[in-house]
Amino acid sequence: MAHRLRSIAQIIDPPEVAEGMGARVRRIIGTKKLKNLDPFLMLDHASATKPAGFPDHPHRGFETVSYMLEGVFKHEDFKGNFGELRAGDVQWMTAGRGIMHSEMPESLHSEGLQLWVNLKAADKMCEPAYQELKRESMLEVEENGVWAKIIAGRALGRAADTKTRTPCYYIDYKLQPGASVLQEVPENWNAFVYILKGTIKIGDREVLTHNAAILSREGNAVELSSDAESRFVFIAGEPLNEPIVQYGPFVMNSYAEIQQAFLDFKMGRNGFENAASWQSTIGNIE
Ligand code: MN
Repeated sequence: MAHRLRSIAQIIDPPEVAEGMGARVRRIIGTKKLKNLDPFLMLDHASATKPAGFPDHPHRGFETVSYMLEGVFKHEDFKGNFGELRAGDVQWMTAGRGIMHSEMPESLHSEGLQLWVNLKAADKMCEPAYQELKRESMLEVEENGVWAKIIAGRALGRAADTKTRTPCYYIDYKLQPGASVLQEVPENWNAFVYILKGTIKIGDREVLTHNAAILSREGNAVELSSDAESRFVFIAGEPLNEPIVQYGPFVMNSYAEIQQAFLDFKMGRNGFENAASWQSTIGNIE
């Protein structure tokens, strides 16, 4: 099949700002410059130094994908689920109709990416679910100076078995100096890269460390290369093309559904049973 290469439509240079307690965040998606990139609602690159954390808070209507780059984070939810995310691990959490949880650093320093993936109307009220992807069990491929960890989707002719209710690709790439990679991108999906290390080239344009390149909508592949060592994530998803009404941790299709989410949360029903009165055991910032 002939490749029609995508180019860069927009470069995002997110400022690093203080967020919550003890955390510094580069917000790539979810700002005035780029409110969302359907189906993605948010991408944060966060680093935290204790005391820090994200104590008890709810979610409804979407998925959160947490990828630890450094350090260790603990997780606890209102149904008694506990988890620990170590560097290289991914937690793919489907909040669905309701999750109330706490996300707290265990190590002094930690760094990670959190992506919010929207759910289509028919999935927004689904049962919450977790996929805990451990570093040692994830699909890694290495060839011709290219290392790829396939968190979801396909790369270098291989496919991860991660289930994504909203079709998505999520690949962590490391390139050796002079290496290049051709990544397939399904037709009409939105796609972008975010650079963690070094500088990469797409066509005749360069993308610098901590910048993101939003790709054009036309084409079925993207070619990325690097003169020096580099690391970046490639993320792509099938747009839902549905109305997005977001209020903090609730993302629905209409304002009425947002009001319903607040009411359900307050009254403890429709998936938020006991959420308002629940207290995590790990949510103290100390
Ligand atoms: Mn959360």
